[in-house]
Amino acid sequence: SPADLAQARSELRRIFGFDSFRGVQEDVLARVLAGQSTLAVMPTGAGKSLTYQLPATMLEGTCVVISPLIALMHDQLRSARANGIAAATLTSVDSDWRETQDAFRRGELDLLYVAPERASQAGFRDMLSSARVGLIAVDEAHCVSEWGHDFRPDYRQLRGLLDALPHVPRLALTATADAHTRADILSQLGIPADGLVLAGFDRPNICYTITQRDNLARQITDLMASEPGPGIVYAPTRAKVEKLSEQLADATGRPVLPYHAGLDAQVRRDNQAAFVASEDMVIVATVAFGMGIDKPDVRFVAHAGIPKSIEGYYQETGRAGRDGDPARAVMLWGAGDFATARQRLSDVEQHRLAGERARLDALAGLVETPTCRRAVLLRHFGENPPVSCGNCDNCLAPPKVTDVTELARKLLSA
Ligand code: ADP
Ligand code: MG
Repeated sequence: SPADLAQARSELRRIFGFDSFRGVQEDVLARVLAGQSTLAVMPTGAGKSLTYQLPATMLEGTCVVISPLIALMHDQLRSARANGIAAATLTSVDSDWRETQDAFRRGELDLLYVAPERASQAGFRDMLSSARVGLIAVDEAHCVSEWGHDFRPDYRQLRGLLDALPHVPRLALTATADAHTRADILSQLGIPADGLVLAGFDRPNICYTITQRDNLARQITDLMASEPGPGIVYAPTRAKVEKLSEQLADATGRPVLPYHAGLDAQVRRDNQAAFVASEDMVIVATVAFGMGIDKPDVRFVAHAGIPKSIEGYYQETGRAGRDGDPARAVMLWGAGDFATARQRLSDVEQHRLAGERARLDALAGLVETPTCRRAVLLRHFGENPPVSCGNCDNCLAPPKVTDVTELARKLLSA
């Protein structure tokens, strides 16, 4: 109701110190406060956490949040507590389980973060029945779908928890879900189809370029020469990360550091911290790098090979230009990349194969399109964008279509 939203607005100011809601936050909050189950699809950085943290302080009962990464949960815990919200986590690394359970039973918790594998355990379900739950929030909800780009079997088990609390409203949150994945999330989590709230995905300040690789080190050196600010280069393997970071450091004289899972944990932390603090560093990394990193002034993200999917591409390139200033996303693909990726699909479990194939095909569509890249990206996420954005390679320098039409003519007349 309007009264709920008015109260939410004053709580927004009082608890978080923000003046207004951003984008679709208000639509999501209106539904949640009215007890309606909702799937919110909002880009990274759009402020999804607030859409459950705020209701957590307003609703009767505790808001239980399912979140896939312990590190992210603890970040959230810190910031919630800093805002004076009564929050706790139940994960394998927490030792204060008893205190947390007691506080929950006494109804003292606004927010309780729990890992998906805990959430599905009978003991946890029993605990939930001992006090009032006002909302169940499922963060990174694409993990529930085998169609999603990051399926986690633990998320499948959430069904038991939801079935045990049939009358508690649910809020599923994700940054990246295509139409198929969205439909799957809705049905898996028992959210009605009209409970979908979709935010704008456009990142107008990012200029998208997708080019074939010829001389990778030279192409990225050129990019670095035109973009003196911080940048991320994603490379497909640890070996390529190591090699490329050396080549780029030698060729440009700029600070360049590697990041991959094979490096010592302390080295990884140091390199990440150095990058976050730097105004001109380039980090060459595997996709292990980036989650949960908040660096607003990244000026370019380059892919030295194809990403795993359009969702992955959007997420990785989305780390550029968070400050709203012009930034670039440059993908350098090779003729063999798709063949290699298709070969790897032979290891994929049978029931996921169709989804993985469809994801690669969608990515190929983005790479091969002679039309606006942004339009292809946004349509993939269910939007209806203008035909031309004026800020991607194909809009800025339209590819010659004579070859394409000639081919089409031949095919049609054959
Ligand atoms: P997401 O989970 O969607 O990636 P977060 O919930 O982590 O995004 O929020 C991203 C940032 O935006 C946080 O620093 C948060 O405090 C800030 N934020 C969220 N809502 C608002 C708002 N209404 N006004 C200003 N800043 C906001
Ligand atoms: Mg989030």
